Amino acid sequence: ELRQIAIYGKGGIGKSTTTQNLTAGLVERGNNVMVVGCDPKADSTRLLLGGLHQKTVLDTLRDQGEDEIELDAILKEGFMGTKCVESGGPEPGVGCAGRGIITSIGLLERLGAYTEDLDYVFYDVLGDVVCGGFAMPIREGKAKEIYIVASGEMMALYAANNISKGIARYARQGGVRLGGIICNSRNVDREAELVRAFAKELGTQMIHFVPRDNDVQRAEIRKKTVIQHFPESKQADEYRALAEKIEQNDMFVIPKPMTQERLEEILVEYGLMDDLKDDYKI
Ligand code: ATP
Ligand code: MG
Repeated sequence: ELRQIAIYGKGGIGKSTTTQNLTAGLVERGNNVMVVGCDPKADSTRLLLGGLHQKTVLDTLRDQGEDEIELDAILKEGFMGTKCVESGGPEPGVGCAGRGIITSIGLLERLGAYTEDLDYVFYDVLGDVVCGGFAMPIREGKAKEIYIVASGEMMALYAANNISKGIARYARQGGVRLGGIICNSRNVDREAELVRAFAKELGTQMIHFVPRDNDVQRAEIRKKTVIQHFPESKQADEYRALAEKIEQNDMFVIPKPMTQERLEEILVEYGLMDDLKDDYKI
């Protein structure tokens, strides 16, 4: 059964890096995976493609016209046969990026990209809003499963809570469910405890704690995933562990977003705002 998964999280939190390393972990386990970048930056697949410039679906459409396009113009094979697509989009602030995603998904469908042998499709979605265009993969009923990348930093958790509000809204209409929070560490004190408590409050789980590790940057500069460039490293094993947990995950929920006050209480409880503890009488 094909699992279509959307990855959300605050800008710069590590969505693209985590998605690609997770994908590498899944293909190592024998899965067929397609990654659809839904970000106008078109950098969702560069580590899987070894930096090969992937022409976006929207640019290809513009240059070739819908009738002339063949699948291999927009779908390139990367690490161990991973299928890589970049939907592309307008320049920031111009037009609706969500349109590019709809267009791309429609075209991929017509060109037969969603083959029977696929096990996973990932949508690496720009930004931290689940409104308007960026909700497209879930609004279109494609991605039924969502993971949020977050850290113990306050803004990452604010974003994760807001994203959960969007997911809860779409979950009532469609069948979309939250599969968990992936903690991509920023080395915040008591980070795992905090993110675990935050996830529990949402009614979900911290599915894995991915440590912060400079091997990520060392691999990135060579345009590779950690799994490909440092297969023996500790960080590679962390991504493999994440892949295994995603494969075995059976906790899919409609998140229960919390109030700002409750989120702040949790932050205070776990020491992020030590100087505020008196105000909150904790
Ligand atoms: P955007 O919202 O702009 O698309 P993003 O959420 O996709 O950003 P990435 O581009 O994946 O974020 O990551 C931002 C940077 O963080 C990357 O350059 C990467 O090197 C670094 N990074 C991500 N995860 C880790 C990690 N676990 N350890 C060290 N560095 C990391
Ligand atoms: Mg990204």
